[in-house]
Formats: sequence, structure tokens, C-alpha cells
Amino acid sequence: MGHSPGWYAYMQGEVDRENRQKEYEQRQREYAERQAEWEEWREEHLSTEKCPICGSEMYIREGKYGKFLGCSDYPDCKGVRKIKSDGDNCKTKQPSTEKCPKCGGKMYIREGKYGKFLGCSNYPKCKGTRKI
Ligand SMILES: [Zn+2]
Ligand SMILES: [Zn+2]
Repeated sequence: MGHSPGWYAYMQGEVDRENRQKEYEQRQREYAERQAEWEEWREEHLSTEKCPICGSEMYIREGKYGKFLGCSDYPDCKGVRKIKSDGDNCKTKQPSTEKCPKCGGKMYIREGKYGKFLGCSNYPKCKGTRKI
């Protein structure tokens, strides 16, 4: 044991710093994953309706008694609306007359990062898309 207590403390500090860095990177990764999942969920559930209380966007949600629209500010805002019919209210799922080139299913007009396109109603099982 030729090392001084000071050296030992220094090495401990290095290890701590490395661990903290690893933890930080892990958290960043987890955050990015959650963000991506959230964005996918949001795209699937965003509706065309606005909250009757605060005017925010509304999401299609599912409760005990079936689907309804809930305020995106929930739980701060408890605004809800009845849903008319499945898919009707979804901003990213406007029905179209086109058929999916992969499975022949219905296609929805969807809005992605690069503008509007047609996406298969069987997404995410079928990834069929068409240009508009
Ligand atoms: Zn609201
Ligand atoms: Zn398809």
C-alpha cells in the first residue's frame, strides 16, 4: 500500500465522475426513447377537436366506457369530449379512398414530418404508404 490517502481520494473521485457520466448518458438514451414513443403515440392519438375548457389540442383516449377525447393538458385540465366515431376525430387519420399497395387495406391521410401522405390503416403491422 504505497499510495497516500490523497491518491486514493483522487481515484475515487475519478470513478465517481465516470459513473456519473455513464448514468447521465443512460438517462439521455432513456429520455430519447421515451420521447420517440411519445411522439408516435401522439401522432396516432391527436384529434381535430379542441378542448371545450381551455382550447388545447385533444387526444383520443380510452377509458372504462370506451374511447373519448381528453385535453392534452390533462391532468391540469380535465376537459373531455365525446367521440363521434372511430377514426373520425383523429387529425392524423383522415380516411381516403386509396387502397394499401401492400395489404389492400384502407389508407388514411396522415401528416408526417415531411408533409401529408397516405398510410395504411393497419399501421404499425403494415407499413404501406403512398404519396398523395
Ligand atoms: Zn383543456
Ligand atoms: Zn397495408
